[in-house]
Amino acid sequence: MHDYHKAADFLKEASEKAEAAGKKKVTAVNIAVGEDSGYSGESIQMYFEDLSQGTVCEGARMNVRSVKSKLRCPKCNELFERRRFDFSCPTCGTQGEPSEVGREVKIESIEME
Ligand SMILES: [Zn+2]
Repeated sequence: MHDYHKAADFLKEASEKAEAAGKKKVTAVNIAVGEDSGYSGESIQMYFEDLSQGTVCEGARMNVRSVKSKLRCPKCNELFERRRFDFSCPTCGTQGEPSEVGREVKIESIEME
């Protein structure tokens, strides 16, 4: 159900931006969905399509960029992708810690006309 709410949030955000810019139509909404966010880009896409009927976002394309999770090295601050069975930093070998990369769900940009 939270995918539905996120789609509703995105619809509101995109509609408000369009209104603020004095635009009549949103043609595309580009979102980023982290692989550890707990959200499904596909279902957000589907709900968005449903919810946008009759709004300025009707017919808008929703493009989903999926974001791979990254670990952060506590020693040298390097961000790196988690590999299978190996959490060590490629630069210094210290064990990485979870970072915010891969947990985001957000609109990156909106295209309007
Ligand atoms: Zn390091």
